[in-house]
Amino acid sequence: MASQNLIRRFYPDTLPKTTLMNMQDTTRPLEVACPQCRKKVLWNAANPYRPFCSKRCRLLDLGAWADESHRIAGEPAMDESGLDELLARADRDGEPT
Ligand SMILES: [Zn+2]
Repeated sequence: MASQNLIRRFYPDTLPKTTLMNMQDTTRPLEVACPQCRKKVLWNAANPYRPFCSKRCRLLDLGAWADESHRIAGEPAMDESGLDELLARADRDGEPT
């Protein structure tokens, strides 16, 4: 199934070998480990937060990504203010004391 290939692609660590072997058995629901708390989660339409176990874990994960992008977005401003300081320090270092 395409969805199972997707899981294997993006979350290879969440699928133990036994689960991969049992994928042929469609009567068995697919279990994955929540990327956030490693809790076992059933991968099915009933779980809108899959592969996370809950809304909380999904938000935590999205929050981690948001923090990351916020940090990257904030870097240019920090570099700009630090540049003046660097130049001032370079000027001071260039002068004989
Ligand atoms: Zn979780």
